[in-house]
Amino acid sequence: MSDSAIWRPLRDELLRFAAAGRTANLWLRDDDAIEPTAPLDRLLDLTGNFAVPLALAVIPAVTGEALAMRLQRENRVAVIVHGWTHDNHAADDRKKQELGPERPGPVVLAELKAGFDKLKRLYPRQFTPVLVPPWNRIAPTLLPSLGDLGYRAVSVYGQSSAMSSIALVNSHVDIMNWHGVRGCRPHAELVANLVTELANRFDGGSEPIGVLTHHLVHDAAAWDFIAQLFEETKDSSAVGWRGIAELLN
Ligand SMILES: [Zn+2]
Repeated sequence: MSDSAIWRPLRDELLRFAAAGRTANLWLRDDDAIEPTAPLDRLLDLTGNFAVPLALAVIPAVTGEALAMRLQRENRVAVIVHGWTHDNHAADDRKKQELGPERPGPVVLAELKAGFDKLKRLYPRQFTPVLVPPWNRIAPTLLPSLGDLGYRAVSVYGQSSAMSSIALVNSHVDIMNWHGVRGCRPHAELVANLVTELANRFDGGSEPIGVLTHHLVHDAAAWDFIAQLFEETKDSSAVGWRGIAELLN
């Protein structure tokens, strides 16, 4: 399929939004940052070129001044908290999670407080009090305590449920295929995914659509997809890329 045929469903949906005078909110979350790397530079260049705000989920326990120095000059980057060490505490036969029910709640919450405090100190200007649980999983029993630690929202994967005791700012379109070949999902599939999310909003929902990336493991197709998505959306009145702080208000 040609590039143009692959992207046509998105173009059509954007035209439908524009014709109706509607605008959907998009936001970009990228996970697993620890230190400055060439892939991170590439992501920052790309988002910078298109003026797309970036919510960067940083792993607190293992990060430090080097990343803070690198991000200091970035005006559209918000730093959010990605667990504590990003270690898996689930049994081998269970889905991976760091913030699951395996350990006592107070132990996990102490880590989440340490992560909050460390990133807030490292990023006085860019810190945004949002928790991104590693592997997008967290024990529900922890949620009511997060507000006391200072967190204003949690970001996991999939449609947000109104039942949560803390605000959810979720991601919906993960560009990577985590099963089998680790690489970008087929572009046509990602476009269909985005169109479905947009169509849901057209029918009434207003939840921002989160696009999820992982700069450290992108293959060429992943970089191409992000670049093309920014290109397709840059002049459209149908969508706007928002910073996560803006979405919290
Ligand atoms: Zn992660």
